[in-house]
Amino acid sequence: MKDLRVNGDRLWSRLMSMAEIGATSHGGCNRQALTDADMEGRRLLSRWAQAAGCRVRVDAIGNLFIRRPGSEGGLPVVMTGSHLDTQPTGGKFDGVYGVLAGLEVIESLNDHAVRTTHPIEVSVWCNEEGSRFPMAMMGSAVWSGRLALGAAHGLTDRAGISVRQELERAGIGIDAPISRHPVKASFEAHIEQGPVLEQKAKTIGVVTGVQHMSRHEVLVEGQEAHAGPTPMDMRRDPVRVLAAVLPALYASAEQRGRDARLTIGFIETLPGSPNTVPGRLRFTVDIRHPDAGVYGALREDMNRLVRTALQRQALAGDIRCVWEAPGVTFDPACVAAVRGAAAALGFSSLEMVSGAGHDSCNVSAVVPTAMVFVPCAGGLSHNEAESALPGDLEAGANVLLHAMLSSAIATPA
Ligand SMILES: [Zn+2]
Repeated sequence: MKDLRVNGDRLWSRLMSMAEIGATSHGGCNRQALTDADMEGRRLLSRWAQAAGCRVRVDAIGNLFIRRPGSEGGLPVVMTGSHLDTQPTGGKFDGVYGVLAGLEVIESLNDHAVRTTHPIEVSVWCNEEGSRFPMAMMGSAVWSGRLALGAAHGLTDRAGISVRQELERAGIGIDAPISRHPVKASFEAHIEQGPVLEQKAKTIGVVTGVQHMSRHEVLVEGQEAHAGPTPMDMRRDPVRVLAAVLPALYASAEQRGRDARLTIGFIETLPGSPNTVPGRLRFTVDIRHPDAGVYGALREDMNRLVRTALQRQALAGDIRCVWEAPGVTFDPACVAAVRGAAAALGFSSLEMVSGAGHDSCNVSAVVPTAMVFVPCAGGLSHNEAESALPGDLEAGANVLLHAMLSSAIATPA
């Protein structure tokens, strides 16, 4: 069993075939959740899975499961998977790699007539990206019991079309309650979506968890005034708060070391006219850190710095946390299985904490879970130019295969 390897060429050719569905002009993909392109991608995957002798099942929130039976009935599955949906200007690998690496595991077991005691299952989580329906990791959240099925069905896109309508349009039965089948362990392969593995020339990221993250919206009230006649000391200019806060925020992040992440991704002044002192300012602060203590300190810094600046400028304002995802620590035994597989296969590896959220965050709430990362060029993701090397993708799939085998227990043919 030690010598078992996936077929890297088949994995690559499937990635390229899937990328033709919803292909964009700059080499990326647009298969947003439950669009025609997303459904077409799922149909292609289902055909491959059925040809591999697997049963395909879709639940009431559109999660798709591909199962290869185990040699003993009634045992919990060893699961892998990710998502097929993309950002509007997404790449060929984010999510898709994890799904097709899972299928490749199944096909490699078929090729070599390897039976496993536990069934192997590949999951395709519905609407991971949250770009069309505003709830990232939706399908896995419902499956893990973190989001009510009805709430997910009621989510609507910008055109007012609901998840429920789109599931019905796709012919997916939405009335059956979600029943979470027993899962022994879950492993998700994914491109890193950051530059660290590439920079450190490592092939495999052994992912130990996901960092803490939150998004905050700051609102500052000023007073609109004419840019010409109004002397500087007589203005109530909300941008003054931003001017004071930005250097202080960046300094706070820098003080907390290299793992701290602080992003001001959105700044808006109203009315947004070049010759009017703005009456209102709105900006967002995204804060992330793997360590709960440091993460909390960063949040406190942000609150204190904004409040101090508001006070100094004598302006009214508000800070609102609009989204928070607590950090995740993956299961030590699953992490050890990934670490062990990478070492046994002779790949260089790095223990790391994921900077992005993944379906595995939800899955890990109810099932022992870990992730395998592979490098992507320049750390670029959520981008049409997203790319990864066939050799790295193959290596990650081999690590996935052996991590899963250690849990699913292979029996010689
Ligand atoms: Zn993803």
